[in-house]
Amino acid sequence: MKELTMNRNESLFNRAKAIIPGGVNSPVRAFGSVGGVPRFIKKAEGAYVWDENGTRYTDYVGSWGPAIVGHAHPEVIEAVREAALGGLSFGAPTEGEIVIAEEIAKIMPSVEQLRLVSSGTEATMTAIRLARGFTGRDKIIKFEGCYHGHSDSLLVKAGSGLLTFGNPSSAGVPADFTKHTLVLEYNNIAQLEEAFAQSGNDIACVILEPFVGNMNLVRPSEAFVKALRELTEKHGAVLIYDEVMTGFRVALGGAQSLHGIKPDLTTMGKVIGGGMPLAAFGGRKDIMECISPLGGVYQAGTLSGNPIAVAAGLKTLEIIQREGFYENLTALTQRLANGIADAAKAHGVEFTADSVGGMFGLYFANHAPQNYADMARSNIEGFKHFFHGMLDRNVAFGPSAYEAGFVSAAHTPELIDETIAAAHEVFKEMAK
Ligand SMILES: *Cc1c(COP(=O)(O)O)cnc(C)c1O
Repeated sequence: MKELTMNRNESLFNRAKAIIPGGVNSPVRAFGSVGGVPRFIKKAEGAYVWDENGTRYTDYVGSWGPAIVGHAHPEVIEAVREAALGGLSFGAPTEGEIVIAEEIAKIMPSVEQLRLVSSGTEATMTAIRLARGFTGRDKIIKFEGCYHGHSDSLLVKAGSGLLTFGNPSSAGVPADFTKHTLVLEYNNIAQLEEAFAQSGNDIACVILEPFVGNMNLVRPSEAFVKALRELTEKHGAVLIYDEVMTGFRVALGGAQSLHGIKPDLTTMGKVIGGGMPLAAFGGRKDIMECISPLGGVYQAGTLSGNPIAVAAGLKTLEIIQREGFYENLTALTQRLANGIADAAKAHGVEFTADSVGGMFGLYFANHAPQNYADMARSNIEGFKHFFHGMLDRNVAFGPSAYEAGFVSAAHTPELIDETIAAAHEVFKEMAK
């Protein structure tokens, strides 16, 4: 049976590679950093995904975050079905767009106005353009290890010197497009202060993941969060919380509700589409009014606010606001993180786990990392062994040590305990 599974995934992967570069439509799916053959998914329901050969996996990827209520939630599917019967796209405004915008603004009070787009990349790209248009400044600050989608000025790695501006991290991005992006170390307040002391009057915005989920899970220190708000305010720079991953995931009101911080702009995605392509950017009204057609900052989208995506998003937002949703999700996620950490300890494997709301980090290191360099020093080989050991036991984590994991409301305590039992077996094997 196992042989057959490998054959079906393998044959699809080979067929895909002939027509789609690398066989995938987004690079991490290719299993490049862990090795092996990606599972081609046939269907998903609740906490499970099935591959093309019918093998079932307990899923901790959750489509990289959107599947917070569980895959194919019957109420979400019904909302999508109903919306689809009324037409798929109009290229004209709809009432649903107003309803979801009002709903998001109610959940996230820093968002006075917002605009819907189709992907997180669009949301962050436009938020940066908007911050530049609003301030009339060019330079931006981002942090090493934070991912904000794949627009040109955000595909940047640190320059040669501490405070020199960045270099492209992707071929095809002209150095001219990234020379205005300063890349700093996450959680490093001294660097942030120095950057503002040096270029404060030229900095349009600071963008960050307010809990990082794209270099595994990394928490900001309280002092770092405070310094970000104070320095941006003092120098008239726009503070952008990229909550594409953390919004409605670490808490209903996102990271900003946990930090007690009011960012100037917020980007959202993943959960707000409930599995459909929907994202948004929003914030202060005086900034948002700089967007076309009111202001001079251009932005548009044929499928922006797509009615089917809005229907899926609205139903998802309704479900996550039900009594006890986040208490339950947080408890489940803690149960998983603590259980796996205890299993590692029992077998003497160097390991740490952490979680915030429904998002978790697993680190093959003796502490939770503070920044990218720290994360890169963890035992990546250990992660690979763990990943494949768990996959062999029908548990799917993200295929990279640099990804956070996600629990949904469809994961039961019993299912999580099964995962922990599987982790015991894998750690036992690793300890040998
Ligand atoms: C996923 C993600 C993005 C990009 O969103 P896409 O919808 O994949 O374009 C941007 N920022 C963060 C923090 C993300 O996690």
